[in-house]
Amino acid sequence: MSFYPQKVPFVNLSLQHQPIQSQIEQVIGEIIQRGDFILGQALTEFETAFAAACGVQYGVGVACGTDAIALGLQACGIHPGDEVILPANTFIATIIGVIQAKATAIIVDCDPDTALIDLTAAETAITSKTKAIIPVHLYGQMVSPSQLLDFANRHEIIIFEDAAQAHLAEREGYRAGSIGKAAAFSFYPSKNLGSFGDGGMLITNDAEIAQKMQTLRNYGAPSKYLHTEIGTNSRLDNLQAAVLNIKLPYLEKWNRDRTLAAQHYNTLLEPLKHKGIIPIANHSNTGHIYHLYVIRVTEKSPLAKPAPTGAAPTKRIARNTLQAKLAQEGIQTGIHYPVPCHLQPAYQNLGNRGDFPRAETLCEQILSLPMYPGLSNTQIEQVVKAIERSLNC
Ligand SMILES: *Cc1c(COP(=O)(O)O)cnc(C)c1O
Repeated sequence: MSFYPQKVPFVNLSLQHQPIQSQIEQVIGEIIQRGDFILGQALTEFETAFAAACGVQYGVGVACGTDAIALGLQACGIHPGDEVILPANTFIATIIGVIQAKATAIIVDCDPDTALIDLTAAETAITSKTKAIIPVHLYGQMVSPSQLLDFANRHEIIIFEDAAQAHLAEREGYRAGSIGKAAAFSFYPSKNLGSFGDGGMLITNDAEIAQKMQTLRNYGAPSKYLHTEIGTNSRLDNLQAAVLNIKLPYLEKWNRDRTLAAQHYNTLLEPLKHKGIIPIANHSNTGHIYHLYVIRVTEKSPLAKPAPTGAAPTKRIARNTLQAKLAQEGIQTGIHYPVPCHLQPAYQNLGNRGDFPRAETLCEQILSLPMYPGLSNTQIEQVVKAIERSLNC
């Protein structure tokens, strides 16, 4: 791999941390002095504040977003053998959560324009064993709350939101995490709200679920040395909670920055639509908080030259060509995600190639462009100019 000068990085976390670094160092110092590292005061404060920001009553901090899903499903009464519906094009952690809860993951196809779960496809996956649906609010855009509620009510199943990419996203008057029975968040460093390591949270309006979650994350113990569940050890560190307490008040502004950056991309990319460059559709206006800004490089792209016989499909070549050309110009991009879950070696039991054609095609077309609070308009212009140049040669 050769070295290219990096003009536009994919993310830049130091930009958001630099102005608040001394505040963070101070609260970390205070915790070191107090010594309350586990289930401390900063954690309780953050649980209350984050849940309230989402418009929900209870928050229970855990070690990561994956655990928020795994333990959260158990706290919601999902039992071994219960079927849980989720989209094929999610991050693998959604599936890991379901499997760790000993439930059966049933994947369904996505909408090709929004990349969100296709609820029409989900209809056909319903069986007598279906107990829950996990809408993944992918890239920072919520799945339609009204359509989800209608779906879940008709089938008498619960909604468990994977909101790991959707901190404070909104749609139809709902905030992410407030539609269903419970919701899982991740505070992995590069998420819209990120800690200085791993972290996660379950939020819910149900006091019993919150209480069960507190027990599950702490050795199954509702009080010291009383073990009513098997549980595990999965707590959000007090130090991480303290960092998140400092960062939370900035989240809305950071999300707004991302939305403005996305609007600038949208405007500049509009003339490239007829060349096959199509941004993932936004059906929620400013409620989309753009954890990622994703475009599709479609068959109409001039880069989609006929592949030699036996080579990978044309679509894939087009996206990979564009990504390589951008890298040469110092523009870092990502692919979220390059392989749908059912085509990963560990998850072949979920389906075969061809079973979820829209998710499979999308995985070959998508490209995530640089996106972070503080990304400048000049940088966005550089990215789009580089895309234009790539299409013209
Ligand atoms: C990040 C993420 C998770 C998992 O969170 P971790 O904190 O990394 O365990 C789950 N689902 C989605 C959609 C994610 O993006």
